[in-house]
Amino acid sequence: MKILVTGAAGFIGSYLCRELVLRGDDVTGYDNFHEYYPRKCKEFNVDLINLSEDSKKLKFFSHEEVEPIYEQLSKYGNQKDQEDKGGKFEFIEGDITNFELLESLFENKKFDAVVHLAAMAGVPYSIKKPRLYTTVNIDGTVNLLNLSVENKVSNFIFASSSSVYGNTKDVPFSENKVENKTVSPYAATKLAGEILCHTFHHNFGLPITCLRFFTVYGPLQRPYGMVIQRFINQALHDLPLTVYGDGSMARDYTYVSDTVSGIIAAVDKKLGYEIINLGNSSPIKLSALVEEIEKALNKRVEVDHLDRPSTEVDITYADISKANKILGYEPKIDITEGIKRQVEVLMMMPEWYRDMKNV
Ligand code: NAD
Repeated sequence: MKILVTGAAGFIGSYLCRELVLRGDDVTGYDNFHEYYPRKCKEFNVDLINLSEDSKKLKFFSHEEVEPIYEQLSKYGNQKDQEDKGGKFEFIEGDITNFELLESLFENKKFDAVVHLAAMAGVPYSIKKPRLYTTVNIDGTVNLLNLSVENKVSNFIFASSSSVYGNTKDVPFSENKVENKTVSPYAATKLAGEILCHTFHHNFGLPITCLRFFTVYGPLQRPYGMVIQRFINQALHDLPLTVYGDGSMARDYTYVSDTVSGIIAAVDKKLGYEIINLGNSSPIKLSALVEEIEKALNKRVEVDHLDRPSTEVDITYADISKANKILGYEPKIDITEGIKRQVEVLMMMPEWYRDMKNV
């Protein structure tokens, strides 16, 4: 299948591209290496995908730097078997707000499916840069929907988010419970994205699945604005862990290869228009997360309680029965194993990665 993955150089995008290439798809990755977190991390992700296509094809880093990480990720079993199925990968550096560049790409490639992951993704940063979020996450999404219709793409997957549920206490979150009371500009753009997806499906028949991801984590997690990566980093540098509020805030942390298995199931199934949660259905409080970090690093940590930002909700908790029924989705990795893997890979990464500031 010819598949366009936007946001391919990002955390989830790079895992997805590797899986698709390994199973034999012809994948085009599109990403503008947005400076929200260091370009180097994204170049590293692209080289991991390059390795999945061809053991000699590295663009940014040396084999000594990338191969051990690739091997380690393979050991976790998320890169299935290593038999060469002839999958292809091409990376294009470009912005989803650049309609002309996307237009020529769609015309040349004749994609069967589009997985649209590119976005400004951090929640706290969205309060500082709301116009950047609306431009990228709304206008950029419309560009992709528009071109997918014009070029008769047969399946479109949109990366939505648990944040569309706002600060509801009605748990677990089932797909039809959204109250339109989002609490961050980021969440508002994701909800707008879902509504635009419905509009394009309604008017043009484009098959679309909106997948609501729930706090995705795992090795090479997006380094800014994600609590697990921040906690590990703080603990390794002997700093107190910065906990928002009293530690009772809970998140439904989902291991990245579980999320990716759900995305791939959606790529393979044209559903008309559906919204589906991809979570773990097992929320964990911040205080318990601190204990998991202590366990993974085998050390005691200090905790510093900070005021909770207004963009943070009390809890996220996915009802995943729809995902299970429609996509056969079953998350497999629990938080203890997931954090252990995240730490293992972090310790193997080059110094520039381990010493990143502002995580
Ligand atoms: P990420 O930041 O690692 O990946 C997003 C990628 O999009 C980045 O590589 C970035 O450079 C790219 N991008 C940003 N603006 C762009 C633009 N204008 N043009 C082209 N590319 C652009 O984040 P991620 O964690 O991999 O998230 C992937 C998707 O999943 C996002 O849409 C995000 O909103 C969604 N999501 C993620 C989570 C999570 O916990 N990680 C939860 C819910 C939803």
